[in-house]
Amino acid sequence: MKILIATGNPHKFKELSAILPKKQNSGEKIEYVSLADFKGLNLPPETGSTLEENAAIKAVYAAKQTGLPVVADDTGLEVAPLDGRPGVHTARYAGEHADTDENNRKLLAELDGLLLHQRKATFHTVACLALPSGQHLTFDGRLDGYIGFGYRGENGFGYDPLFIVKDTTQTLAELTDKEKNAISHRAKAFGQLSEKLKILK
Ligand code: IMP
Repeated sequence: MKILIATGNPHKFKELSAILPKKQNSGEKIEYVSLADFKGLNLPPETGSTLEENAAIKAVYAAKQTGLPVVADDTGLEVAPLDGRPGVHTARYAGEHADTDENNRKLLAELDGLLLHQRKATFHTVACLALPSGQHLTFDGRLDGYIGFGYRGENGFGYDPLFIVKDTTQTLAELTDKEKNAISHRAKAFGQLSEKLKILK
């Protein structure tokens, strides 16, 4: 069985291929491909007002276009003292073409002056599994923590160097890939989705 992971981000493809199952319950092998294998396929813009809408927009479109079952996700960082921002706008937080560093710096600037316990945040992922018929299911995963005061750690991507995992002293960027995948918002959402993949006909 071939499944398209609807991302062109090699970090995310690597993370998800490590989380998703290698075989179905029937013993059939599952092969994962990414958007890099479908050069002409451009996903529609993320115009939804929720993470769930955006994950479904991408997965349903790609499944219809390719005839393959597709998994897609949308992730937001919901920061309590910012009333849940940047949320659905996490990728474009510091502007349409902002890079990771600009997003991270904007976040640190907005939280300036707040103490650690006032910097609560949650990573929230919605994962979607869509079939070529248009049928689709979504799954939520969350990870709670705090936004630190500066960058720490070299691993992961995005906001990982700022995100201190709840009940620990480490940022996500200080964890190994394996450690992050054991607790992450994405792993929780895709863990539930994996159970469906294992029984997909
Ligand atoms: P996307 O929905 O996966 O494209 O992610 C939206 C934004 O959240 C991007 O700016 C990502 O860099 C960031 N992001 C998503 N997942 C993670 C994560 O696991 N750690 C840190 N940042 C993330």
